[in-house]
Amino acid sequence: MSGYEKMKNIVIIGSGIGGLVAGNLLAKKGYKVTIFEAHSMPGGYTGGFYRKGYYFESGTLSFEASASVFKAMQDIEVFEKIDFVKQKIRLVAENFDGTPDTYDDYKKMVYLAFPYDQEKLNRAFLRYIWD
Ligand SMILES: Cc1cc2nc3c(=O)[nH]c(=O)nc-3n(C[C@H](O)[C@H](O)[C@H](O)COP(=O)(O)OP(=O)(O)OC[C@H]3O[C@@H](n4cnc5c(N)ncnc54)[C@H](O)[C@@H]3O)c2cc1C
Repeated sequence: MSGYEKMKNIVIIGSGIGGLVAGNLLAKKGYKVTIFEAHSMPGGYTGGFYRKGYYFESGTLSFEASASVFKAMQDIEVFEKIDFVKQKIRLVAENFDGTPDTYDDYKKMVYLAFPYDQEKLNRAFLRYIWD
């Protein structure tokens, strides 16, 4: 039996997504977990705050590593309880102003905005592995 397996009480410093997921997974395995948080609310950078009736995100707007984040949420049984909101970003520049819904829409907007730079855009978009 390893030293880790012998532990029954676990202390986690910080209730960001890392601490919360780790704490919940350990609790599901039967460990007694205590999470200490310095801030007045949990969540770390996934949280936001209210000022004068307006809500401000303080960090995460989306999860680039959504495959692992969603898997972790399923493992700790919160995935079904969360209402995800599709993120909309308005992009404004001299040549365009739009809120593309998908990556393809974004590409179309940029290609339309720069009709004389198609070759350069082809090269730029080729650099992205998800293209
Ligand atoms: C502006 C911004 C935008 C971001 N946007 C994205 C995004 O769009 N997509 C994405 O995937 N990621 C994004 N990230 C990154 C993502 O938010 C972080 O990687 C992730 O939330 C980190 O989680 P964590 O649990 O490791 O740490 P944190 O969220 O930093 O949590 C650490 C917690 O520990 C607490 N703490 C620290 N020291 C102590 C102590 N001594 N005692 C007690 N408590 C303590 C803190 O108060 C905090 O609650 C963004 C980050 C920032 C700052």
